[in-house]
Amino acid sequence: MLSVKLESLDLRILRALMEDGRASFRKIAGKLGVSTPTISARVKELEVLGVLDGYRAVVRPEKLGGQTLFIRVRVEQGALRDVVGELSAMEEVRQLHLISRLNLLVRAVFMGVEEMQDFLKWVSGLVGIVEYEDYALLETHKDEFPALIKDGVSLAVDCFYCGKKITEKPIKLRLDDRYHYLCCTSCANLYREKYRKIRDAA
Ligand SMILES: [Zn+2]
Repeated sequence: MLSVKLESLDLRILRALMEDGRASFRKIAGKLGVSTPTISARVKELEVLGVLDGYRAVVRPEKLGGQTLFIRVRVEQGALRDVVGELSAMEEVRQLHLISRLNLLVRAVFMGVEEMQDFLKWVSGLVGIVEYEDYALLETHKDEFPALIKDGVSLAVDCFYCGKKITEKPIKLRLDDRYHYLCCTSCANLYREKYRKIRDAA
């Protein structure tokens, strides 16, 4: 459920950072016509909300001689969790998505044909696999970041106290110059109390 509307400044900050993750707050502030502290406060908030999940370098696997493979894996009823665990643990698996109730889409990268064949052999031998189909990546015509930053997008936020997805309008508590999001008044009260205790102890 989507609940928190992102403000247009937030959207513009996200776009600026997606374009250049190394851009300084000062540079972004200049570009967007706001103060540097405003950018730094909004970025901190977006990090707390989990919208901004990190800053990484974009390294092209093909430049390192890697061959990318997409694999659709169909699992048996009840085997999903185990198969996900096995696949996630492999470093060659770079992305793993559930695309239907029993189908996973794997994006994996290999340094050589032998390594790729070994991997597929291992996949076919996994307990809980019904079948798989693999496709070697031949050409990439577009490769953008997964997030699409459009005006008016909302944000799914988990309650800072109970951790459940907030489905109604969230309660925003401003504590120490920062917003904290809670799902209901009882979580808000408990959170405020917990927050005060932690702060007093510090
Ligand atoms: Zn809650």
